Amino acid sequence: MSVPVRFVLCETSHPGNIGAAARAIKTMGFSELVLVDPQDFPSSEADARASGAVDLLANARVVDTLAEAVADCRIVFGSSARRRKLRWPELNPRECAQQALDVAQTGPVSIVFGTERSGLSNEQMDLCNALVYIPANPDYSSLNLASAVQLIAYELHFALGDFQPPQEPEFPAASGEDMELFYAHLKDVMVGTGFMDPDNPRQLERKLRRLFNRAHVDVNELGILRGILAAMDKQLDAKSTGTGHG
Ligand code: SAH
Repeated sequence: MSVPVRFVLCETSHPGNIGAAARAIKTMGFSELVLVDPQDFPSSEADARASGAVDLLANARVVDTLAEAVADCRIVFGSSARRRKLRWPELNPRECAQQALDVAQTGPVSIVFGTERSGLSNEQMDLCNALVYIPANPDYSSLNLASAVQLIAYELHFALGDFQPPQEPEFPAASGEDMELFYAHLKDVMVGTGFMDPDNPRQLERKLRRLFNRAHVDVNELGILRGILAAMDKQLDAKSTGTGHG
């Protein structure tokens, strides 16, 4: 299952960390890496540390500013070893993963990582919707950049496992063509029974279309509906024959 989760590394100073982060991202099944103004990239050290994930480095987008990196995102999480409780809603990686996957169904989502020495600036955090803090030793809470990427990527991967893959439907959905035949049949029966006045249909047909379209009718269900209509047709025919000839 491919989900649009983007990993954004800001002003990374050690190319080795970029490589190790790429590897961390790929091992967890993600692929999108964006580098904001990296100090040294491309680099052989990054390639060496990426190991089998050099493709992520080759495809990495390099941009000048964080704003550019996240411009199209629906939600942005800033990961930080420094807790700034006063200004940003704080999540742990598990909560972040849940929210990220929920929003990723509607568009791209970014997880942003700060530079090694000083982390994310407040200006960078201003572009984030929430702060992600990896619970750690309060006296020494700053993980290596690639380790932080690994942990958050892992939580995303793990949360994805909980996502029920869409189940194979019992029956395929009815085709648009078959639904049109059904609507025409339904109309005939509604007119035939006198339920619907063809000279004054109001919104009846549209409302019924809305109802059945909302239900995502499958071929089996459509067969039942058509069967009911056919049975009503028979009754109508019998009646009209009865009155006609009786
Ligand atoms: N001294 C810096 C740490 C930089 S470590 C600081 O105070 O933030 C590089 C990056 O790894 C951080 O910017 C952050 O994105 C991530 N990181 C490291 N430890 C983390 C933690 N405990 N929780 C969340 N992110 C962390």
